[in-house]
Amino acid sequence: MWELKGWIKQQESNMLGLIETLVNIDSGSYIKEGIDKVGNVLSGEYAKIGFETEVHEQQKLGNNLLIRHPEAVNPEILLIAHMDTVFGEGTVAGRPFSREGDYAYGPGVIDMKASHATTLYALKALMESGSEAFKNVELVLNTDEEIGSIASRELIEQVAKTKKYALILEPAQNGNLVSERKGGGKYFLKVHGKSAHAGIEPENGISAIEELARKILKLHALTDWEKGINVNVGLISGGTSVNTIAPFATAAIDVRIETWEDGDTVDLAIKEICSYSEIPGTRLELTGNITRPAWNLTAEAEALIAIITEEGQKIGLELLHEKSGGGSDANLTSFAEIPSIDGLGPVGADAHQESEYLYIPSLAERTLLLANVIERLSSK
Ligand SMILES: [Zn+2]
Repeated sequence: MWELKGWIKQQESNMLGLIETLVNIDSGSYIKEGIDKVGNVLSGEYAKIGFETEVHEQQKLGNNLLIRHPEAVNPEILLIAHMDTVFGEGTVAGRPFSREGDYAYGPGVIDMKASHATTLYALKALMESGSEAFKNVELVLNTDEEIGSIASRELIEQVAKTKKYALILEPAQNGNLVSERKGGGKYFLKVHGKSAHAGIEPENGISAIEELARKILKLHALTDWEKGINVNVGLISGGTSVNTIAPFATAAIDVRIETWEDGDTVDLAIKEICSYSEIPGTRLELTGNITRPAWNLTAEAEALIAIITEEGQKIGLELLHEKSGGGSDANLTSFAEIPSIDGLGPVGADAHQESEYLYIPSLAERTLLLANVIERLSSK
């Protein structure tokens, strides 16, 4: 669809305008008001092209959106893009959207505000070209991907089940597609001990910090580089003062695994380690679990990759695919056994960092690629 190329290129400044609007709304995962604002902007944009939004309201987190064209009948393609970022309230005030030559900056610009622009404009491009393929898609715009999609998981899995393909619009690091991702989860361990003055009666105290320290060694010993299992206690806290035997201590534990089976094994091992005390008199409380099953490449997904790389070649893009250590909603769609591919968003890097950027020339390319892939998957 060469005629689309020119049309899309002409839309670049409109796309950047939308990205600027979205970036300039603080929408960290816990900022419900901000995320709902982002949701309103986007559902407004989709309404302009005749799409309807079903709002899945949530009490504390932002509302998830399910969007489709009213004439869509059993759409086969699920598109997923998250609206939350990792940045807290006030980030925009400090460093709003900015542009320098071919690069754009700002909180969430590449992860993944820009993806909302390419997705919307890919559908607009299809309409512009006279294609009906826009009726073959359903979109989930969720609000908690950066915190593990725990609340949107049910919606994603439920919608995925009725689809043939899942296209996830996470950004493209180095331009590559993502075909596999590690899975993982988070755990929180709380240790209770007994306080006592460290000078006057230390023998009457039971140190929660010592108990935790011993558990950390055991937890870290679960790491197995060869198998790609990583268990990391990334945060600890505890105690009341330097001269008091610590009455409590806590640890937050991050787990990454490469297969579903390893997820079960590590989950059991963590629960076992935290099921007993090393030091008599301490008590342990463990919460958490594996929230993202590992995503491994299947033959069906390989066939989908072949189609996408072919469509890439047609427009001069050499697309490679890679395995990523980070999780995404593709872990969930693949768990629902739907051929999934990720990294279809625009090109950029440094997600979750201040230096995060979008490479602007990729906007038009990735929009065209997405439009062509949707068209191809819809033509029988
Ligand atoms: Zn993301």
